[in-house]
Order: sequence, then C-alpha cells, then structure tokens
Amino acid sequence: MPVTRFFAEHAWLGQVTAAADVLIDVDGERIVEVRAGADRPADAVHLAGVTLPGLANGHSHAFHRALRGRTHRAGGTFWTWREDMYAVAAVLTPDSYYALARATYAEMAMAGITCVGEFHYLHHGPDGARYADPNALGEALIAAAGDAGIRLTLLDTCYLTGGVDQGLQGTQLRFGDGDAAAWADRVSGLQDREHARIGAAIHSVRAVPADQLRTVAGWAQDRRAPLHVHLSEQRAENDACLAAHGRTPTRLLADEDVLGPGTTAVHATHLTRFDIDLLGASGTTICMCPTTERDLADGIGPARALADAGSPLSLGSDSNAVIDLFEEARAVELDERLASERRGHWSAATLLRAATGDGHASLGWAEAGRLEVGALADFVTVSLGSVRLAGARPATLLESLVFAAGAPDVQEVVVGGRQVVSGGRHTTVGDVAEALDAAIAAVLP
Ligand SMILES: [Zn+2]
Repeated sequence: MPVTRFFAEHAWLGQVTAAADVLIDVDGERIVEVRAGADRPADAVHLAGVTLPGLANGHSHAFHRALRGRTHRAGGTFWTWREDMYAVAAVLTPDSYYALARATYAEMAMAGITCVGEFHYLHHGPDGARYADPNALGEALIAAAGDAGIRLTLLDTCYLTGGVDQGLQGTQLRFGDGDAAAWADRVSGLQDREHARIGAAIHSVRAVPADQLRTVAGWAQDRRAPLHVHLSEQRAENDACLAAHGRTPTRLLADEDVLGPGTTAVHATHLTRFDIDLLGASGTTICMCPTTERDLADGIGPARALADAGSPLSLGSDSNAVIDLFEEARAVELDERLASERRGHWSAATLLRAATGDGHASLGWAEAGRLEVGALADFVTVSLGSVRLAGARPATLLESLVFAAGAPDVQEVVVGGRQVVSGGRHTTVGDVAEALDAAIAAVLP
C-alpha cells in the first residue's frame, strides 16, 4: 500500500502549543512519519486548521441518544429520567439498536470522536429472554461502530440487581445474566476485531453484589482488558452502600480489588477525602461526563483533587444529550471555577490529553491518541474558519479549541488512515441527521 501524505497547517504534537506545517505520512493504518516545519508536498492531502489526535469518548450509552431534548418538560430527578430511559430500553431489538447506534456513532465521528467506550448493559430480549446469539445486541453495537467508521471498546456490563438486596424488575430483566460467572461465560463468547475490543464493566455497586465484584474484576485482569464502573454519581448510591456495607462505594471497590491502572471510575462525583486518595493511589482513571452530570443534576466531581492524587482523566458523552468533547473538556475547568471561585485549574493541553491519549488508554487503545510514529493513524482537523474560531492566533490555538470550538468545527476525520469525515460530511453514512431521525422514530414514535 502506498504511503498517504497529509499536510496539517497546525497540529498538536503533545506540547503546550500547536506546531506549524506538519507533514504526517501514513502507511496502512499507522503513522510512519511526523515532521513539523515541513514544506508542503504537492501530492499531500491538505488539512486546513488544527489537527489533533482522534478524540476518545470514554463513556457512552448509545441508545440514550433517543432521549435528547425529551426529558426536560416536567423537570423530575435522576430517577424519573431513568424511567424515560427504561422506556427506550424496553423496545430495542438488535436491528433497531444497530440503526440507532450506527447513526449515533456517525454523529460522534462528525464531532471528531474516533474511538468510543460503549458501556453496554442491554443484553437480552424482553423479560430477559435469551437471543439465539446471547451477544446479539453487543454484536449489533460492534457492527454499528464499524459501519460508522470508528473504533469501539465494548464495555460489556455486569448488571445483576436493581439495588442493594433487590431483584431485577421490568426492563431491568433485559440487563441481567443471573450471576457474575454467567456474565463472564457470555462475554467470553465475544471476540476482538480490527476496529473493536472487548472490555468489562461493573454497572455500579447498586447493580453488582459485593460478593460478585471480584469475578468481574478478575475476568478483566486476566485478559488485561479495561474495566469500567459507575461510581458515586448520586448521593443515594452512597447512602445505600453505607447502610448495607458500612463502607463507601469507593472503599468497597478497593476492598474487592476492583481499582487499579486498568480500571476507570465513571463520574466519581460524591467522594470523601479518603475515597479520593484510594482512587488516586491505585492509578484508577476518572472519566468525567460533565454535560450529562449537569443534565441529571448529579453535582460537580472533584476532578482536580483526583488528578492531584494520581488519577488520569478521561472524558465521556455518557447519555449523549450532547456529543461534543470540546464542551466536555472546557466544562471540567469551568465547573471547577464555579465550585472554587478561582480560574486556572487545568491547562488546555492537559484537557486535550484527557480527550485523546489518556482517553484512549482507558479504553485499551494505548497505541492511539497521539500524533507520533507508530501510532494508529487516527486524527481530526478542526477548521478555524467558523465564527466561533475567527481571530484565533497560533500561540493560543489550544486554548481557542478547548474554550471556543464546537463539534461542528470538525471538518476532517481519519481513522486507521481512512477518511471517515471529509469537508464536514460523513463519507459512508452521508446524511447523519436523517439517519438519526429515522432510527429514533423507529423506537420513540
Ligand atoms: Zn453511564
């Protein structure tokens, strides 16, 4: 295969400012040369604007996309929102989920997301009936990501109880495998693909009994697969865990060997000082999902304190009420400003690292998320031509992106050397809005 040459006007190579005139040579799906200050070859694909490594969306539930804008009229709480979410989960089939996920992942591609961590807990048919292929819904998600042109880590989620000492009810029956051993048995039937890897997830300490946690963690550790867990998103989860176990959810996960450098805790909103130190010392990544956390009135998690304690940061669109990693990145800093009444907690480069390299590492794709020789050729170009970014200057391009760019500014997306978005248009799905409209109408008329 011949080398494809890309010439980026500006590119972020991991430093505190962007480099100019960067030549990126790609052979197959890998980067084989990166050179700043280069002359522009006549045969190179021109990347106008700022080129970044592909963005990693660390936490997604693809089907929640159907609820965007529909859950606000009556106000409600996290728990009433969950009822709306269950209504969508109740009607999905492998076919309708494939269509919804393909359109949602295509929207992610257009936002510059080249890899998504899908926290997947909808496993079975109505009333928990098994499909002929017990992984039919997971396979639908793997196919959807492939057809949308992005990488996926299927974080197959163990979900066994409706709460501490409560059985599954209603739609929740579709989530359950009985026990963690049966979960492991089913998940072991899934295989990695070129664009997809299999990881594990513990839904939460609400949904996996304490004596089952080690089975899930052990499955992931044996395979060196990523392990994700929702952690302390709502105070009610902490209260229930303290009442049942006399320990916070973080302490329970630490005691059961769930935390560590291969683990990502999602949200980590309501923590004690001791929890923060346990997470940081273990090297557990923290995935913040600020647009969802504010949508659901969760609260503001202690991201800076967690990072200072030793936890890497990643970012997720979670409920997909918003799909825009620039918005997630700036929200981490801006929320911290609101909570502390001070500015300057996170640099633009550090937030971009969360959105790229550290996000990919938490999804088991350590060879992506960096513009360097040997890395996967996944990168995105943000145009500087919109009203949002007009006036941006080279010395502060990274700050312009983090604090002013939006998903619509992404014009070019390359995944594994293949152009997935070109001139702001998805190259295979075409009209993504139309695909979303049709897929959502099929599940929520
Ligand atoms: Zn979630």
